[in-house]
Amino acid sequence: MTATLADGQLVLIIEDNEKNLKLARDLLRYHGFRTIEAPDAETGLRMASDAVPDIILMDIELPGMDGVTALECLRADPAIAGIVVVAFTASVMPVDQDRFSRAGFAGVIVKPIDVKVFPNQVLAYCRTAERDG
Ligand code: MN
Repeated sequence: MTATLADGQLVLIIEDNEKNLKLARDLLRYHGFRTIEAPDAETGLRMASDAVPDIILMDIELPGMDGVTALECLRADPAIAGIVVVAFTASVMPVDQDRFSRAGFAGVIVKPIDVKVFPNQVLAYCRTAERDG
């Protein structure tokens, strides 16, 4: 038996693509994270208020409210404004990377995810959250 990577950190995954969502969830749970999931931003914001996750992985292209707008809403609510939010996106275009950074995302995890590094990427953002929080 090897020790799991994570220590039960709670990750909220907001992602409308079922396949992407399932892969991220399965990988994170396998590596010792806890996860909650939402298929759209509105549901995700409610979950963030209820559960106050350690970090949020936020898809940008979502049905209804997009991920950048969702981040603005989150930042406007003092109860959840401090949560570390990572853009979870297929876009590697510099103009988008710049837009996400200016919007206040802590960073970007690009899809399709690299299954070998993804859990460590997420853990690194959790550590950032612990340090800042
Ligand atoms: Mn999407």
